[in-house]
Amino acid sequence: MSEIADRLGSVRSRIEAARARSPYHQAVTLVAVTKFHPREAMEEAVRLGVTDVGENRVQEMEEKFRMGPLPVRWHLQGHLQKNKVKKAVAMADLIQSGDSLDILREIGRRAGEIGKVQDVLLEFNISGEASKHGLDPADFDEVIAAAQEISGIRLRGLMCMAPNEDPELTRPVFRKARALWERMQVALSGGAVDTLSMGMTNDFEVAVEEGATMVRIGTAIFGPRDYNR
Ligand SMILES: *Cc1c(COP(=O)(O)O)cnc(C)c1O
Repeated sequence: MSEIADRLGSVRSRIEAARARSPYHQAVTLVAVTKFHPREAMEEAVRLGVTDVGENRVQEMEEKFRMGPLPVRWHLQGHLQKNKVKKAVAMADLIQSGDSLDILREIGRRAGEIGKVQDVLLEFNISGEASKHGLDPADFDEVIAAAQEISGIRLRGLMCMAPNEDPELTRPVFRKARALWERMQVALSGGAVDTLSMGMTNDFEVAVEEGATMVRIGTAIFGPRDYNR
């Protein structure tokens, strides 16, 4: 068995075990994060049944995207610059990094130009770390009201990142995110809010225990990233 197959199998069983411990018994979608790994790694993951792949940068997604169609959903999860939105919208099935109203408006505008309704997540900065992008949970009501008015986007849920620390310290962050996501479901009832994206290699089990419906995992599947690539 290949290393990727091996690791993927282990990630899947760890997700399943965490799901069994979760009070929500939710379904969990695995997004395999392929940034800094070659397209071949992505293709292998797809052969092994991965249905969703994630990239951080538009340019890297584009390189892999152009190499031909794959039966996967493409997720973009890195902070977006305005001048990259047009390309992002042309490729992404889900843009997870809706981290400002400005960028959401630009996504809606670009989607409108090509007759698309772009699925997006609102990225909230739950931990309040200055180093992180994201909307302020204190602005929740205004953000939801304003985002609802933007045409060309469909709000599918919430994304967050926890501090890169002891996974147990991340639990309160994930718990807050879950509560915020449930408020979002109420505020947009009749909408399409079905996705709570949280949990990476270091903390995905805690995230699933706290109710994540989507995890974004790179290192645990593909090994360490070579940033010189
Ligand atoms: C890189 C990245 C991931 C995956 O990180 P790993 O620790 O390798 O699992 C997930 N989400 C976001 C937003 C990322 O930037």
